[in-house]
Amino acid sequence: MSKKRNGKVYLVGAGPGDPGLITVRGKFLLERAEVVVYDYLASPKLLKHVPQDAELIYAGKKGGVKHTHTQEEINQMLVDWAKTGKNVVRLKGGDPFIFGRGGEEVEVLSKSGVDFEVVPGVTSATAAATYAGIPITHREYTASVAFLTGHEDPTKPDSNIDWAKIATGAGTLVVYMGIKNLPIIVKNLVAHGRDPKTPVAVVRWASTPEQRSVVGTLETITDIVRESGIKPPALIIVGEVVKLRDAINWFEKRPLFGKRIVVTRTREQASDLMAGLEENGGNCLEFSTIKIEPVESYEVLDEELERLEEYHWILFTSLNGVKYFFERLYTKGMDARSMKGPGIAAVGKATADLLLEYGVRADLLPAVFTGEGLAETLLDQGVEGRNVLIPRAEKAREILPETLRGAGAQVTVAPVYKNVSPEGKREQLREELESGKVDMVTFTSSSTVRNFLSMVDAGSDSELKRLMHEVTIATIGPITAKTVTDNGLEVDIQPGSHTIPDLVHEIVEYYSNMHP
Ligand code: SAH
Repeated sequence: MSKKRNGKVYLVGAGPGDPGLITVRGKFLLERAEVVVYDYLASPKLLKHVPQDAELIYAGKKGGVKHTHTQEEINQMLVDWAKTGKNVVRLKGGDPFIFGRGGEEVEVLSKSGVDFEVVPGVTSATAAATYAGIPITHREYTASVAFLTGHEDPTKPDSNIDWAKIATGAGTLVVYMGIKNLPIIVKNLVAHGRDPKTPVAVVRWASTPEQRSVVGTLETITDIVRESGIKPPALIIVGEVVKLRDAINWFEKRPLFGKRIVVTRTREQASDLMAGLEENGGNCLEFSTIKIEPVESYEVLDEELERLEEYHWILFTSLNGVKYFFERLYTKGMDARSMKGPGIAAVGKATADLLLEYGVRADLLPAVFTGEGLAETLLDQGVEGRNVLIPRAEKAREILPETLRGAGAQVTVAPVYKNVSPEGKREQLREELESGKVDMVTFTSSSTVRNFLSMVDAGSDSELKRLMHEVTIATIGPITAKTVTDNGLEVDIQPGSHTIPDLVHEIVEYYSNMHP
């Protein structure tokens, strides 16, 4: 019997928080991972790169909070997984070898004879400085930087840091894990000769939409941090370069920075709106108000597929109708050739375009792209005695089948997909609104409004008004806006032309005018 192949462990730096700051190599490895062991500080958004069937293990380790796994357990876990032959990614915040205990992890791997590789990451010190508008070195201010841990009590006689040397030994000092010990750290630096007027910045959750930063001097920063309630994870940056922030602070000056925006969309829609808002600094919370799923039973469709040639028309009233119809057709071992008998009608251009992707050209498009429009166009053709198949959502408006039946057609409705409200999100949305953290809600269709309202489940108009009192509402166009006002709320933003880029532009303008 051949010996079992060993796996390999990749220590990958996740970068400081923004999921865009992982390396190309790191992303490549995540896309091929079979097991991912990730930390508290590694952005959970990076996990979207990981294959669906991979094993995800949260290793925890939040300062001050009970650790999910001890370091020894993590080390052992990496060895054990690799020995089962798996490709393991150990995803660590920032850079694995900077205050990340990455050295210890690979020592154990090496001793256990497990193959490994280390992929560096953008460490939070450089990211925090950059995202707070501070060049960490500058020809006119400093030619040296030191990275220190503030985790150790600097007054301990056996401290690993020689504070007397470091206090004035490097131009810029960046302290990791130093918030708890901040008072002692600054006292120590001053006691060892650093000018008390030296500027200091403290940056929390650097490079994420939650970033917060405050600035002071060695004399004042302790009080400032206490008053502003800044908690870990945060970095302390000490040095003259901090002064440059006034001119360079680019990240926090983006127009939507600090704005919490609820984006209501169907999950299947591309996230252009979120991307556009995030590009301008918005902190977006995606509430996919509708989720599309296959129906439990395809009994009706399956039966009709057996006698497709008896149909005169197949009507496609939505993109999902097309998608799920063809999925089922293919599952039954059939393809577009089975559809050569009936005429094919599509409710609109997008639906017709999608049909073409499946190899079928629509014979009929209505003048007006609605169910009513389609009914009218078909009636013009004469439908009496005609067999009509409508593959569509389980619950949908009955206007089309009813109109056709009224005109003497034999109509079969075949449910091929269903809309469901995602569970669990309801409480989260309610909580966000109750706590007054939401600045804006965006709506891109009337159904997103209706789904949002049913998710909020306010109970009464006055309760809804109370929850939405401070919330700005942005809608894409007049029909969506009308659904909002019909429900007793007011629309604050609506672009002149009804596209996603225009909506983003209008939202940016709105906030830029409020805070010029
Ligand atoms: N290996 C990591 C550091 C781990 S030590 C790296 O290279 O960045 C954990 C400390 O890193 C935190 O206590 C905090 O001081 C700092 N840190 C990590 N991510 C941070 C972030 N996004 N913003 C501010 N500080 C961060």
